[in-house]
Amino acid sequence: MALGVMAISLATLLASRDAAIQHAHETSRNVTAVLATNIARTIETSDNSLRTLIAALDKPAIQTMDRSLRHELLFDRTAAEYVTGTGITDDRGRVIDGCCSRSHTWDFSDRDYFIAHRKSADAGLYVSSVYAARSRRGAQSIAMSRRINRPDGSFGGVAIVAIDVEYFRQLLAKLDVGSHGVAAIVRTDGTLVARNPPLTQAGLVNVGKSPTFPRMVNHDSGFYSAPSISDGVLRLYTFQRVPGTPLIAVVAPAESDVLASWKRLSWIVGVSASSVSVAFCTVVWLLAFALRDHANTQVLLTELTQTDPLTGLKNRRALDNALENEWERLQRSDGSLSLLFVDADHFKQYNDSHGHAQGDIALKHLAECIDRHVRRRGDLAARYGGEEFVVVLPNTDEAGAFQIGEAIRREVEQREPSASSEAIPPFTVSIGCATGRRSYPSSLEELTSSADLALYAAKRRGRNVVVCAGDIVEPAQPQV
Ligand code: GH3
Ligand code: MG
Ligand code: MG
Repeated sequence: MALGVMAISLATLLASRDAAIQHAHETSRNVTAVLATNIARTIETSDNSLRTLIAALDKPAIQTMDRSLRHELLFDRTAAEYVTGTGITDDRGRVIDGCCSRSHTWDFSDRDYFIAHRKSADAGLYVSSVYAARSRRGAQSIAMSRRINRPDGSFGGVAIVAIDVEYFRQLLAKLDVGSHGVAAIVRTDGTLVARNPPLTQAGLVNVGKSPTFPRMVNHDSGFYSAPSISDGVLRLYTFQRVPGTPLIAVVAPAESDVLASWKRLSWIVGVSASSVSVAFCTVVWLLAFALRDHANTQVLLTELTQTDPLTGLKNRRALDNALENEWERLQRSDGSLSLLFVDADHFKQYNDSHGHAQGDIALKHLAECIDRHVRRRGDLAARYGGEEFVVVLPNTDEAGAFQIGEAIRREVEQREPSASSEAIPPFTVSIGCATGRRSYPSSLEELTSSADLALYAAKRRGRNVVVCAGDIVEPAQPQV
């Protein structure tokens, strides 16, 4: 039961751990979806501005328009708050016109977006990596750009919308990712666009070096757990690609934050389940000991009620039970049941000559002799009373009973095996045997009285002799 309690607790805790991780994943997935949608809308708006600008530049009326009027028409309407600049360059990267900057003498020919558009006519909308904007004293920006084609299709420059990286930082700053969690916008080349919490310059890493980063690049969305390459914290990463761009929105709460309340619960459940199990085992253990002691006492008491205190053999009560059981068994079998009635000869006289104490020693010696010859399973030796003993021998025929009786008689007469026999004045025993079979004699009483009669016959024959009831074995011709 204790193991069961522990197993159920463990299974419940493991299930609730999975549920906590699953819940964190679902929350992160919702957050990344909102982030990606937000960024996608911003980029779509910027792209629309670029398309409108390029379409306008193609119109002959605009091309022939006065330069300052054209500037006013195309660039003076400030776009969204996060757009820090719009502009167009010529085919060598020099800014022709634009807004949000006093000077238009910048050269952007070294920028990744300019190089990409010059190389390929199919770059479409290009989202640049983070750069330090020259027009804004090095403030970090990213640019959305499209290629401007001349009428013959050759490269004529690029149109740019620059977005302040602060826009992405503010988006992330609103998110609560826990004390050790991270939210980030990453480019597919592994560069960080923005991160919450922000990294110091020293901690800035290219996440593209992480062995798990290819998963983010190769899938539109997903979930996995891995240690961070910047600080080694194990985090649960959920990512979502912003459609049509190289940007990936990532939300990664730390596993320790996600499982903090689960760990507290685990401690409480673990300690409680262990305590209950230990207490249960202790109570059961104590109970088992108490029951065992009780059972031992019962056995001892039962033994005592069936044992003769002087000789250690079974007493009269145990003898009566055994006789009845063996008699009933005999009625169900084809075997035989023999009884020996053993009586010390002239024992009154023995007591008178050597004292009662010596008589007791002699009776103990007699009991030991009997016990030594009654060794078979199911055999039973009992003190009937006084100096009389009864031996019950199941599955023993007349010859066998006589043999055992004779062995007992001879050993008592010779007093050989016992170590204490030196001190015992000699005495003898007379033994009467009787053997019964199924339905013969008709009752147990008849069988016992046959053995009793045989004992009397032995006494009459002069004692120190074995006499069997019936006519199978004559005392005069023992078959030893
Ligand atoms: P018999 O050969 O005819 O059996 O003579 P007996 O003297 O043995 O027979 P009787 O029945 O006259 O006497 C039995 C004696 O056994 C009487 C008693 O002094 C003695 N006796 C009975 N129980 C005990 C006992 O527990 N201890 C001692 N020391 N003697 C006992
Ligand atoms: Mg007697
Ligand atoms: Mg006697």
